[in-house]
Amino acid sequence: MDNQYDIIVAGAGSAGICAAIQAAQLGVKTLLIEKNGICGGTSIAGGVNFPGLFHAHGKQVIAGIGWDITLKSVNEAKGKLPDFADTSLRHWKHQISIDLALFPSVAEEALLESGAEILYHCMPASVRKNGEDWEIQLACKEGLKSLRSKFIIDCSADANIAGLAGCPLEKDAILQPATLMFKFYGYDPEKLEYTELNKALDEAKKTGFITNAEVAGRSAESFLRTHASNCIHLEGIDGSTSEGRTIAELKGRAVMLKLFRFFRKFPGLEKLEIKDMAMECGIRETAKIIGDTRITVEDYSSGRVFEDSLCYSFYPIDLHKPDGSGIDIRPLAKDVVPTIPLGAMIPEGFDGILAAGRCLSGDKLAHSAFRVQSTCMASGQAAGAAAALAVTRNQKIREVPVSLIKDSLSKSGAIVP
Ligand SMILES: Cc1cc2nc3c(=O)[nH]c(=O)nc-3n(C[C@H](O)[C@H](O)[C@H](O)COP(=O)(O)OP(=O)(O)OC[C@H]3O[C@@H](n4cnc5c(N)ncnc54)[C@H](O)[C@@H]3O)c2cc1C
Repeated sequence: MDNQYDIIVAGAGSAGICAAIQAAQLGVKTLLIEKNGICGGTSIAGGVNFPGLFHAHGKQVIAGIGWDITLKSVNEAKGKLPDFADTSLRHWKHQISIDLALFPSVAEEALLESGAEILYHCMPASVRKNGEDWEIQLACKEGLKSLRSKFIIDCSADANIAGLAGCPLEKDAILQPATLMFKFYGYDPEKLEYTELNKALDEAKKTGFITNAEVAGRSAESFLRTHASNCIHLEGIDGSTSEGRTIAELKGRAVMLKLFRFFRKFPGLEKLEIKDMAMECGIRETAKIIGDTRITVEDYSSGRVFEDSLCYSFYPIDLHKPDGSGIDIRPLAKDVVPTIPLGAMIPEGFDGILAAGRCLSGDKLAHSAFRVQSTCMASGQAAGAAAALAVTRNQKIREVPVSLIKDSLSKSGAIVP
């Protein structure tokens, strides 16, 4: 690999994959760096393998690179798409189930075909300006590696790279819970004696042996009846630091083990098994950049179209209470389709750096909706196009005509407001 790039995209989740492919397709030399050994981020390593929503009110509003990869991986798996035309379904029924092995493999194939380079198992240790370029010190297995890049796109979800570069960030004092995804198998949910199980779990909650959050606020019946709903909520996790992540992973697996031992004692659950445990906890909320535009819940819920809106987003406001006691869920009104402006990707006072995906600029409630994977994919692709145009035209990001970014996105199959 080289040490000079036009664009370095940090974080290979929903946003980073699309940002890197889009930039590379536009002919700029692009490197995607990632701390894990696989792409997909929260969708894959976090086991949240059900991206949504690509459709609003029965009509597709997000397409392009993320949609193509999603569709291809579903077809490879001979999977089924939801009925997007059926608007009577609850929103989560329009999420798409993706295969944990096929999605990242198809995404890697698309990344390499686009000409983007990938470097796994590395994390930026410092980011600073050196003349016109960014200089990034990467912590690699073999030691520190120094790279230079004209432009950075932060798709780390935690705004880690923007933070290292000195960009202004915001992080709420009380964050939504982290979640460890796994599935309990080895029993027949139809044959369990739920009255007794519910009573036993209530008792364990009363004594404090198991907290409400640890079973995601559910009864034993709700927890055990559908395998897919076995997940643990963890309070007070700051997933933007290595220490916070370590606490999440250790706590998550300790709680899972505790629940496994607890439930295994009951009739019908003697052969309980754990399957599909995510490699890492899913994080809902940490730091976001403070952008030229900060998307508010009023902007989001009214479907405001900004002058520089580059993609759509569609999801109800979906704020998870930290103690797992429920979700503040507010569906969008009929015909409302929110949008994401370029201004929410540009860190205030900075040039040569954009953020996309979960660390876009917005208030807590708007963020609870725009953090979903389809929006991360769309904002990633938009950031990739905007950055590539800034590099090829040798312009500052705020000087690039929005119409050119939109044209470029449309040519790549994206839907632009
Ligand atoms: C429990 C849970 C349930 C959810 N449910 C849904 C749902 O039903 N539908 C939906 O669409 N969305 C859902 N979401 C939200 C969604 O999954 C995430 O917000 C989204 O995947 C974030 O995408 P991203 O690309 O911004 O970040 P991520 O997918 O998190 O990707 C970030 C990538 O950056 C890497 N990285 C991080 N820091 C660094 C660093 N310093 N250096 C190098 N690499 C780094 C990470 O390893 C990761 O690969 C859920 C989230 C959670 C936690």
